Order: sequence, then C-alpha cells, then structure tokens
Amino acid sequence: MPAEIRLFRCLTDNYGVLLHDPESGATASIDAPEAAPIEAALKATGWKLTDILVTHHHHDHTGGIEALKKKHHCRVVAPEKEKSKIPAVDETVHEGDKVSVGKLSANVIDTPGHTLGHIAYWFHDEQLAFVGDTLFSIGCGRVIEGTPEMMWRSLRKLRDLPDDTEIYCGHEYTAANIKFALTIDKDNPVLGARAAQVSKLIAENEPTIPVTIGDEKLANPFLRADVPDLAVDIGMVGMAPEKVFAEIRERKNKF
Ligand SMILES: [Zn+2]
Repeated sequence: MPAEIRLFRCLTDNYGVLLHDPESGATASIDAPEAAPIEAALKATGWKLTDILVTHHHHDHTGGIEALKKKHHCRVVAPEKEKSKIPAVDETVHEGDKVSVGKLSANVIDTPGHTLGHIAYWFHDEQLAFVGDTLFSIGCGRVIEGTPEMMWRSLRKLRDLPDDTEIYCGHEYTAANIKFALTIDKDNPVLGARAAQVSKLIAENEPTIPVTIGDEKLANPFLRADVPDLAVDIGMVGMAPEKVFAEIRERKNKF
C-alpha cells in the first residue's frame, strides 16, 4: 500500500506534514513546528503518531516536540550533530543511516549549510524527500551556519535524486521565491510557466508543494548555478558554480 501524506500549515508560513504507512499504522511527523495543528491533523486522519523526524534544530521546526512526545510517547529522530539543541531526542542519525517509519524506509542525507547538522530524509521507494530548510520550491534556505560552498554541495546532492522524487520543504515561500528568481532567470520558460501555476494555486489558497526534483532542476535558480547561460545572465561568465551560487544567494538576501 502506498504511503499517505497529510500537509498543513503551522505558525506563520511553516508546513507541517504527516507521513503514514497504512500497512503498519505508523505515522511520522516531519519536524514539529507547533503541536496544535499536528494534533488537529492526527485527529482528522485518525492516525497515531509514532515518530518525529527532525531535519534541523531551529525552533520553528522543533517547538512542538516536547508536547507531542509527552502525549504520544513517539520516537524522536534527529541529526547527530544537532542533538544538544533539540529536545527529547531518542535516536540520532547522519548520512548513510536508514530510518524506518513502519515499513517505510528513508535514507538520511547530510545537507549542511542552513545549519551545520541539517539532514534530509529520502524515502526511496515512495519517491519522497523531506528537505527541511535546505531546498524550497524555486528557492533555498538562508546560509546561516555554513558556507555557500557547503550549501551548494548539499543542494547538488538533492538535485541528484531521481527526477520524479516529490519534495516537501519546511516553508511556503514559493511566491516570493519566484519573484526573485525572475530577476535572475527571466527568460526561462519553465520558470514562467511555474509562476503562472503558482499564482493560480495561491489565489485558490492551495499549497504550492510538493514539487518534483525534475521540475525544480529546470526552474530553481539555486539549482542552476552551474548552467552557463545563467552565469552569463548575471554577468559571471566562466565563474565557478559555487561562486555563482554565492552571488545568487547574496542577491536574494538583499532582495
Ligand atoms: Zn531553519
């Protein structure tokens, strides 16, 4: 039986997401921005929370952990490098580890940059990846703790996932990201098409995620720092991709 997903809003612009294995009944919350909307989603689905899979230590991804664990006695899985900054951790993981949610299995991918210990969970068989604040639809996370080179390497790892992988990210930032991306890559027809599709989704109050890696590769400027035409467009002909990436990230910081 295929995995089931429930996506909902938390806090101001965070996403909460539940991943459910119908065969075993196991349910994971990917991060826990705040307890109340996660409880509401559990109630609406009738699913029982068995696991919380944490991507990184920021409070808007961990603020609900303690209340949820107290109530559901669920397992909390978190990045090894950030265990001291995350409450109630039961198990720590890093790249190369596997995490099971019932019969569903994820590979852990280290994606440092936004924070130094940030990880993503890739459910290979389900073609799903939960990427926290590393990759957003048409954007990427701020490079807060790491370096642009580190973030570019992490984004390339995610870009290398199969094209049909569905990406769930930590925030609804797509409209603002598109506005910025059009200043970098305005002649990109795939980006133009996405802009139209996203305006429609937002007007209908619908989420703009998940997105596939295949679509992001063609439209997200932060995944296209090694595309020669893009470097030409921003006046960085022949520059190393990590430098192009750093420049695009810097422009976004100031946008
Ligand atoms: Zn964050």
